[in-house]
Amino acid sequence: MIKPKSGELPDILIIDDDKTVIMALNKALEEIGRIRFALDARQALSMIKAQPPKLLLLDMDLPDINGLKVCRTLKGNPDTADIPVLFITSNSELGFEEAVFDAGAADYIIKPLNPRVVAARVQTHLNYHQAIQLLEQLAKIDSMTGLANRRAFDERLSVEQRRMYREREPLTVAMIDIDQFKKYNDHFGHIKGDECLKGIAQALANNVRRPADVVTRYGGEEFALILPNTSKEGADILLQKLIRLIEELNVEHAPDAIYKYVTVSVGYSTFYPEKNNQNHLDDWAVVKAADRALYASKDKGRNRLSYQSVE
Ligand code: GH3
Ligand code: MG
Ligand code: MG
Repeated sequence: MIKPKSGELPDILIIDDDKTVIMALNKALEEIGRIRFALDARQALSMIKAQPPKLLLLDMDLPDINGLKVCRTLKGNPDTADIPVLFITSNSELGFEEAVFDAGAADYIIKPLNPRVVAARVQTHLNYHQAIQLLEQLAKIDSMTGLANRRAFDERLSVEQRRMYREREPLTVAMIDIDQFKKYNDHFGHIKGDECLKGIAQALANNVRRPADVVTRYGGEEFALILPNTSKEGADILLQKLIRLIEELNVEHAPDAIYKYVTVSVGYSTFYPEKNNQNHLDDWAVVKAADRALYASKDKGRNRLSYQSVE
């Protein structure tokens, strides 16, 4: 069972207009969460927006907006959809369970409240939610290099592409492929090959540093970068630097390779919202262009950078 480390209690928000209920819940939950409370839905929604809690306890009958409606609103917003909602209700009339789950709630607790039952249910949902979040994170990491994986690339590309379109800012995608890596493996073996890959992954991660930048292992010996708010010229400087830096790691290549040290070829493309029209919200246009540029770098002799505009 995953339990939060002490000092890192999860934030729980109680939304109820009955102060005796809030006090009872606060007492029941004080050891498993950091408790905040709101007396109506409007106040709760602004608190959730400012700082999304890890779990919500929601009164079904709030003074301003119906609790079921609040739950549906939260579930309809991608920023809050994952927060588990537990209803507090004295309602046990026919059909209420369906209504609760239809609204997207995780569970419900019927009044009068039994503190131990409340604490147990809340803890169960906190654990469950934390485990899901952990699995979601792990599913996006490449275990060998520790970089984000292909799944994370696909997800981030779509998000960043939409964001750059809204903000009218350029978005650059770069594909990086190790040169003649088959020869490296054939000569030194796969274990050395893996070490080489890890070293290059590390060098990329250490030198692509803006918080929004994403370095991913796209597949085998190929890496992909997502560089939001980055123009063709800005990316050119960074990518040239990365190419030199990898060469200067001085990892000796196989004797039959064209370069003495391991090198990479890079292709990139920049998506300009004002130039590339709405059709290019096709996430793959920029990736396809970067891929064509990578092949141009290979054709021209490897260990170099090429650009291809989005078509
Ligand atoms: P090019 O310069 O045209 O890119 O030539 P290349 O040999 O790098 O390209 P090719 O696609 O022919 O071969 C890629 C090789 O990368 C094949 C495989 O042996 C190696 N490779 C891919 N993934 C891994 C990995 O996880 N570990 C190791 N050790 N090798 C890998
Ligand atoms: Mg290669
Ligand atoms: Mg390759």
